[in-house]
Amino acid sequence: MLKGKVAIVTGSTSGIGLGIVHELARKGCRVMLNGFGDKGEIEKLRVNLQSEFNIEIEYSPADMSKSAQIQEMVSEFNIEIEYSPADMSKSAQIQEMVSETEKKLGSVDILVNNAGIQFTAPVENFPAEKWEAILSINLSAAFYAIQAALPGIQKRGWGRIINIASAHGLVASPHKAAYVAAKHGLVGLTKVVALENAKANITCNAICPGWVHTPLVQKQITDRAAQEGISVEKATIELLSEKQPSLKFVQTEQIGQMVVFLCSDAGSSITGTTLSMDGGWTAQ
Ligand code: NAD
Repeated sequence: MLKGKVAIVTGSTSGIGLGIVHELARKGCRVMLNGFGDKGEIEKLRVNLQSEFNIEIEYSPADMSKSAQIQEMVSEFNIEIEYSPADMSKSAQIQEMVSETEKKLGSVDILVNNAGIQFTAPVENFPAEKWEAILSINLSAAFYAIQAALPGIQKRGWGRIINIASAHGLVASPHKAAYVAAKHGLVGLTKVVALENAKANITCNAICPGWVHTPLVQKQITDRAAQEGISVEKATIELLSEKQPSLKFVQTEQIGQMVVFLCSDAGSSITGTTLSMDGGWTAQ
């Protein structure tokens, strides 16, 4: 369904981003991975993803003496996964990631702004450098990536921009000033980009997950267990029962499938909106 399309998923070496890459690749999309981690591990991940999703039984009438036809065959039948080490707190590296994707994979059709970090403290003690880092990675990075990718998307006349916001893009919790401000900002940015491109076959939406069991949330659970002197299991149950009526974590693949849906024809009239996937969190 997404054969011939190219996606950048920022922050995709772990958690939700990686889940999104799996679902996009499953549909035939070529992907630029991004995020931090051990170089060797990331290369292993890239190669594994590429071989997992390669379509092995296909036929191409390509004339092997014609390089353009070979290139066409490679891009039609092979899932290419590339990796960019761009730091999302650096605008120049974001621009470089977008142009490298256009060069290596031919275009950027789908941009998923997913990279994000968290830090919790009461406002009066919130360290300025954490505020700056969260605003930069969770909000400004999306602005710079959209700005860099849009001209190509507009020229080709089709695009999907999907921002991974959060339930915290819609409602607040104590001790998360920077995160809540950045995610509300991301929802605002989503609406503006959607309006500016509404007639152009380009949609821009924000997915707002509740708790998803990833390293980002695991840290909050272990911190909570340590602070309260309780077991990790008890801290997990407490965390879910406080906010998420389903008492179940949202799965990374479910978020990936929502991304795929937004990229399908059925998703083409959905733009400028927030899609909550939060087990009832924001219904309360
Ligand atoms: P995670 O920690 O598992 O993954 C974060 C990814 O971002 C990693 O690949 C990491 O390397 C990358 N990253 C961090 N800083 C970066 C930087 N400066 N440059 C490039 N990459 C960077 O976290 P996750 O839970 O998968 O979160 C992904 C997104 O989903 C975040 O935006 C987060 O706010 C959002 N979210 C998470 C949850 C949840 O419950 N886990 C809920 C709602 C929203």
